[in-house]
Amino acid sequence: MTCTTRLPKPVTDVWDWQMDGLCRGQNSAIFFHPDNERGYARAAREEKAKEICAQCPVLAQCRSHALDSQEPYGVWGGMGEDERRQIIAAARRRVRAA
Ligand code: SF4
Repeated sequence: MTCTTRLPKPVTDVWDWQMDGLCRGQNSAIFFHPDNERGYARAAREEKAKEICAQCPVLAQCRSHALDSQEPYGVWGGMGEDERRQIIAAARRRVRAA
């Protein structure tokens, strides 16, 4: 009999949470920075995105996905790029130290 436990899960099982994201249908420019955006403009845009994320029913799944897949761009799960980078770097340091 064929072993199916190592096969990828059906895509809908893995990605279904995205259907419930509050960002769905919103302008993606709120969540992803345009080229050369800096300083106050960037902070204000990210804050607006994070306010939406704070009300989102799938925040935990979204954040987990973004950290697991090391999403490099955008606000995911209420976290900006720099915040995710810091968490990922800290996890790498812990692994190296162990
Ligand atoms: S947590 Fe934020 S980025 Fe993630 S699905 Fe919800 S609204 Fe979208």
